[in-house]
Amino acid sequence: MPHVIYKCPRTAMKVQAWVAEEITPPTATTFELIRCPACTQVHFVNRVDGKLLGDKS
Ligand SMILES: [Zn+2]
Repeated sequence: MPHVIYKCPRTAMKVQAWVAEEITPPTATTFELIRCPACTQVHFVNRVDGKLLGDKS
């Protein structure tokens, strides 16, 4: 199972999340809706690089 590590914007904790395995083009920007175990909210996380949707940093 592939996984992605992202930084929760609410708690600033690094979170490892498992993502569904899909065949996607490597150039595609694919955001995964992940229920965050750190803050219990949901985030859109880029499964390729772990960046959050709307993250400007
Ligand atoms: Zn979170």
